[in-house]
Amino acid sequence: MSGVIVKNLVKKYNSDVTALNNVNIEIKEGEFFALLGPSGCGKTTTMRCIAGFETPTSGEILFNDKVVNKVPANKRNCGMVFQSYALFPHYNVFENVAYGLTIREFYNGSFGSKISSFARLLSRRLAKPPKHIVDKVSEALDYVELGHLAERGTNELSGGQQQRVALARALVMEPSVLLMDEPLSNLDKKLRNTMRTTIRRIQQDVGITTIFVTHDQEEAMSMADRVAVMKDGEIIQNATPTELYSNPATPFVADFVGSSNIFEGQIVERTATGSVVKMEHFTLKSNFSKEHKDIKVLIRPEGMEIYAKDTAVNHENIIEGKVIMHTYLGPNIRYDVKVGKHEIGIEKIYVPGERVLTNGEDVKVTVDPERVLII
Ligand code: ATP
Repeated sequence: MSGVIVKNLVKKYNSDVTALNNVNIEIKEGEFFALLGPSGCGKTTTMRCIAGFETPTSGEILFNDKVVNKVPANKRNCGMVFQSYALFPHYNVFENVAYGLTIREFYNGSFGSKISSFARLLSRRLAKPPKHIVDKVSEALDYVELGHLAERGTNELSGGQQQRVALARALVMEPSVLLMDEPLSNLDKKLRNTMRTTIRRIQQDVGITTIFVTHDQEEAMSMADRVAVMKDGEIIQNATPTELYSNPATPFVADFVGSSNIFEGQIVERTATGSVVKMEHFTLKSNFSKEHKDIKVLIRPEGMEIYAKDTAVNHENIIEGKVIMHTYLGPNIRYDVKVGKHEIGIEKIYVPGERVLTNGEDVKVTVDPERVLII
């Protein structure tokens, strides 16, 4: 297994597209690392440079502290799992997973070398595999809980099962690094959630260094040890999910890793516990402070409570406003509240039987100073 370092990586296409602009990442051995960002920010290009499918314009890729820029893709020992599964339709589950091991033995010279007879030899070998290959494939299929479907054609599998075959096919090669490019994007929401747990469980069991590309913040935040948020070919912040959520470096990160209320503000007073921040239509106490006077204030939707206007509320941060919309989000209810010309989104757990505040109703919103973040 390898730790991976990406150093000052620049990738330009056709001299006018800078896909990556000085990307730096250090991924520890055994770590689950996510590259998160909107479409076109350079996630796949970073992954392809690591795998050796793209040549960097400048910069270095290191596996276990050794520069691999000149090492061809097939010698880097990276396992790949793609959004599109990319299984062989004419082979069954077992054969798909056994394929890579069989080919590797071919190139190691342990069966004939004539290219004309290669296909025949390969089919024969896959149909009657030696015991050591059967054992490894069975172990990989057990990992993804597909041992019972080994003989099944890949076109007779669900999307989730196909993706698990693709994962087994990558794992069976015992790669140094596992690279996964949007592997769950073709699955429905429920299956995606199950697969997140499956992939994370296997990654932890095997302890394999994994780089996972996604544009889905929930996916990245729930699976990864660390997440690098990318924008326009650059890493904006690289941190643990908790750090990203509680201390986003920029409004872009704040918005990308969780729906937020972001306002222009000013620090008007510094207190023993933080500061007092003034926005256009309201003033709040915050447990945070910054050097600068002009700041951005971020309030997470779950950092607030909402009450009907005539409720007696004793709180240091009260904002008055009017509900313009309420939306049921499964276990939560979201209120969008108009305050002056701003809108604030509030999410709270819905308690069955409680009165839902109606659209147009005047309300009070309280904000926990611990949740008034300053960027
Ligand atoms: P997505 O989530 O949509 O897959 P991404 O974050 O993976 O996006 P990349 O595929 O890495 O983004 O692309 C980064 C930038 O490089 C984009 O502007 C893209 O158009 C450009 N790009 C990628 N591949 C090529 C190429 N072969 N030739 C020219 N430009 C390219």
